[in-house]
Amino acid sequence: MRATVIPSPEPVLLDVDGVTEQFPVRRVYCVGRNYADHAIEMGHDPSREPPFFFQKNADNLYNGEAFPYPSLSADVHYEAELVMALSGGGSDISVEDALSKVYGYAVGVDFTRRDLQDKAKKMSRPWEAAKAFEKSAPVSSLIPASKIGHPQQGAIWLEVNGQRKQSGDLNQMIWKLAEIIAELSKLFVLAPGDVIMTGTPAGVGPVVKGDKVEVGIEGVGKLSLSVI
Ligand code: MN
Repeated sequence: MRATVIPSPEPVLLDVDGVTEQFPVRRVYCVGRNYADHAIEMGHDPSREPPFFFQKNADNLYNGEAFPYPSLSADVHYEAELVMALSGGGSDISVEDALSKVYGYAVGVDFTRRDLQDKAKKMSRPWEAAKAFEKSAPVSSLIPASKIGHPQQGAIWLEVNGQRKQSGDLNQMIWKLAEIIAELSKLFVLAPGDVIMTGTPAGVGPVVKGDKVEVGIEGVGKLSLSVI
């Protein structure tokens, strides 16, 4: 390898449950409005239109117990999500083949500067400042699919200070896990290390500094966070 003129950026690595080896992150894709009841609460038609995607930065993902409240927002929302991590990739992946590309799953939060997102939507501007900010995607340790299979049903929930805010089921996804991979691979060449956040059920809302956030997905795991 040739020398670099500045130090190379650190790779982004996520913990894997039960082993010392970590999962290296390449890209982060997120699915918008993938649960009908969340689409409705955001003022949209929940019918099965083609899915849409946005991205976060690889280094927005982290294993940790603290979420630092970001700058320049007064309305930061939680979104509990099932996270898929890929060990394979390609273009135009078939629905039948898609789940063979998944290494494992985690519980994650797609933190969102909702005030900046609302403003961006009104002005037809991009979402990066609303979605791809520092530490915007805390996740639990990954659990390999070889251990738990592919979670297509089961409770997904989020609590703030012990109060249940989101309560859905993975079977409410408009676009299922395999379909998400298939659709995304029409737009982008997927590769090992890609991570996909699969959307959130209804009940999104704000956090403030000092809040304790607990997120869980049946059969996948739990994530506990303090907003600092
Ligand atoms: Mn989301």
